[in-house]
Amino acid sequence: MSPSFSSLNLVLLGPPGSGRSTQAALLAERYRIPHVSTGDMLRDEIEKGTARGLEVEEALNKGELVSNAVVAGLVLQRLDAEDCTRGFVLEGFPRSAEQAAVLDGVLAELGRGIERVFLLELSDDEIVRRHNNREVQREDDREEAVRERLRVYHAEGPALIDYYRKRGQLVPVNGARGVDEVSDVIRQAIETPVGA
Ligand code: AMP
Repeated sequence: MSPSFSSLNLVLLGPPGSGRSTQAALLAERYRIPHVSTGDMLRDEIEKGTARGLEVEEALNKGELVSNAVVAGLVLQRLDAEDCTRGFVLEGFPRSAEQAAVLDGVLAELGRGIERVFLLELSDDEIVRRHNNREVQREDDREEAVRERLRVYHAEGPALIDYYRKRGQLVPVNGARGVDEVSDVIRQAIETPVGA
């Protein structure tokens, strides 16, 4: 069964190392919609040496959040692009209830909504284990930065998760399973009508 959405707007939440970006890439490929990652966009700005890149580099390296104004600007610009009219997989944003409200504002402005919000759940122990096993370590994969990213996740995550849970949009998924299993669970949730 294929989903009967005129546009498929998906959001992927989860702690660092939960497989968010892997799952977002798989969804993007399957449904032929862009994978929109604030982390990737920010790293791109740093790589290109733009003014924005210089502004955010330190926060990224330390595992701290960059300002809402910067990420919201990037997201608005990206979701307004032509290739997002059929849908998108947004990953890495929102990271707080405040950003979730910003996203709702952005989508309302664009006359769109969100179909599903997936939450990849994973224990801290498993997260640390996965980071230590990463073959290519990013600058923010150093233990100190990972700890800071986890701290931020635990500080901001509960209110963010509540935001979507209260609206009945949240679909929790066990992120400790293998990539294919997680991806199957997500696909089934997308292709099953709400309330079915
Ligand atoms: P990620 O690739 O999603 O793990 O993001 C890497 C880093 O980019 C984070 O640790 C933050 O420094 C920054 N970042 C990404 N998305 C956001 C966001 N929505 N709000 C603030 N900072 C972000």
